[in-house]
Amino acid sequence: MEKICRRLALDPTPKKVFNRMNEKSCYICGKKKLSKDEVGITRKLIDKNTKYFYCYNCLAEYLEVDIDFLLIKVKEFKEEGCTLFK
Ligand SMILES: [Zn+2]
Repeated sequence: MEKICRRLALDPTPKKVFNRMNEKSCYICGKKKLSKDEVGITRKLIDKNTKYFYCYNCLAEYLEVDIDFLLIKVKEFKEEGCTLFK
């Protein structure tokens, strides 16, 4: 833990700025650095303009579906060329 903190402290600032602009974390469990797919599927299934994002685990629980279902949906949306996944 101590090592991780030290490493974070040494991180250069530009990365932090980048993170603040682009990084989403899970509204439920706080998982950081949600993937584009996780952000995209949340937008697609919840609301395009949602302020809250979910990781696969929490989104599956929230919607009462399997994670596999979400992964299949992501694949389908991508194949449709959905812009939320670009
Ligand atoms: Zn989560």
